[in-house]
Amino acid sequence: MNMPVKEMLFGDLWEYAPALESTGHAQFEKRYGHFIDGEFVDASSYMKSVNPATEEVLFEFGVGTEADVDRAVQAARRAFEGPWGKMGGRERSKYIYRIARMIQEKARELAILETLDGGKPIKESRDVDIPLAAAHFFYYAGWADKLEYAFPGTTPRPLGVAGQVIPWNFPLLMAAWKIAPALATGNTVVLKAAETTPLTAMKLAEIIQEAGLPPGVVNLVNGAGSTGAAIVNHPDINKIAFTGSTDVGKIIQRAVAGTNKRLTLELGGKGANIVFEDAPIEQAIEGIVNGIYFNQGHVCCAGSRLLVQESIADEVVAKLERRIQTLVVGNPLDKNTDVGAINSKEQLDRITEMVGIGEAEGAVRHSAPCELPSKGYFFAPTFFTDVSQSHRIAQEEIFGPVLSVLTFRTPAEAIEKANNTPYGLGSGIWTDKGSKLFKVAGALQAGVIWGNTYNKFDPGSPFGGHKESGFGREGGRQGLLAYLEVS
Ligand code: NAD
Ligand code: MN
Repeated sequence: MNMPVKEMLFGDLWEYAPALESTGHAQFEKRYGHFIDGEFVDASSYMKSVNPATEEVLFEFGVGTEADVDRAVQAARRAFEGPWGKMGGRERSKYIYRIARMIQEKARELAILETLDGGKPIKESRDVDIPLAAAHFFYYAGWADKLEYAFPGTTPRPLGVAGQVIPWNFPLLMAAWKIAPALATGNTVVLKAAETTPLTAMKLAEIIQEAGLPPGVVNLVNGAGSTGAAIVNHPDINKIAFTGSTDVGKIIQRAVAGTNKRLTLELGGKGANIVFEDAPIEQAIEGIVNGIYFNQGHVCCAGSRLLVQESIADEVVAKLERRIQTLVVGNPLDKNTDVGAINSKEQLDRITEMVGIGEAEGAVRHSAPCELPSKGYFFAPTFFTDVSQSHRIAQEEIFGPVLSVLTFRTPAEAIEKANNTPYGLGSGIWTDKGSKLFKVAGALQAGVIWGNTYNKFDPGSPFGGHKESGFGREGGRQGLLAYLEVS
């Protein structure tokens, strides 16, 4: 091949031979009902989950009714009042460690299933989702027998039955974020996975069964919004934990108002990734790419607004334009793939609509000129320049691989623009100066702020929102509080 040396060095024209992950040993049933009281049970009706990269139906799963949710809540109550509630923290922690180890043992299979059902690149499910899910169980296993040290001078007590509803962007990881702290604190669980990605939750049910947890400690009811609402509205649930859209979060907050249920909400975001002129530019470019194209941009804390200092804006935009052309978009099972399939047809339609709105508003669209697979739901990595603060693409969460680029002149202007959103979840700051980094971080209304990096997660680090991004924290010692009465 006749390739200019420069192109070879920077890899623009590299063609990668396919490196497909084999799916042969990844096992799943053609049909799952629900997992209630330690058993897999049939459902009264079913819906289908597709592989968004191929549009093929993978399996069917149950649509939980109010009666199913009630059975699950009763089982969870019995377990809470029975063996699980009576068990000491030291014993509970053994079960949680066992779950963590079994996730590790089955990591490869779980990664494949996560990618098949949800469309994310195998390198992300393999290197991020599944290891972090295991890490979360390991981390909270460690707290189970130390709760009185977590909150000294108090007698921490579990709340009872926790109802948990999770989204489709990190299916197993979100189940881990919800279940691990609930178990560590001695609560029992009724959880609903999202309707496009229930597969790894069902595999987790198998693990929980195999780990020998007492029946009813963890119950998984499948279904869509109405099943989630049945959990939220069930009178014998003590706590609701929800991750998903701000719209549904508001419905849930209204539903829970006036009850004794405790509530935590992890909702949407429109994170500002702020790049100062003294930042290490090449590193920042990688951070911008990771901030918005990781997991196809289906990330609530995504750095979906790039705020770049005016003096370096042209350079950053030129480099970004070049960099997105090197992203490998396509088959999520290919180990080279950087950007996989959009999770669902509905989400693809939403992204396409928002990009159309951005163009109509007069922003300039830059999309990677990649060839998208003919089947499946794909969207080319995209960013917009000439975006103004009032544009909808600068205000609303797109939840796709679409970045809005804005500029600023002074740190004060960067802070003002970053905070000019109803959301407040993730944010990033890129600068060579530690003092500037901390000063700006202190002024940002965001629950998580990364310095010279982006989208890094650790179970020991609390995560959660400000403003319309929700309230409550998951992860860390703080994450225990959502499931405890502390006094
Ligand atoms: P959603 O909020 O509709 O769904 C999230 C979960 O809530 C799913 O399990 C769903 O079945 C359930 N649900 C839906 N309606 C419910 C109700 N009335 N009561 C109880 N549970 C209910 O989110 P979505 O439709 O999957 O995605 C739409 C938008 O949500 C995205 O574009 C994005 O902005 C946002 N989102 C945010 C996150 C996050 O991590 N914060 C994750 C996924 C989606
Ligand atoms: Mn699916």
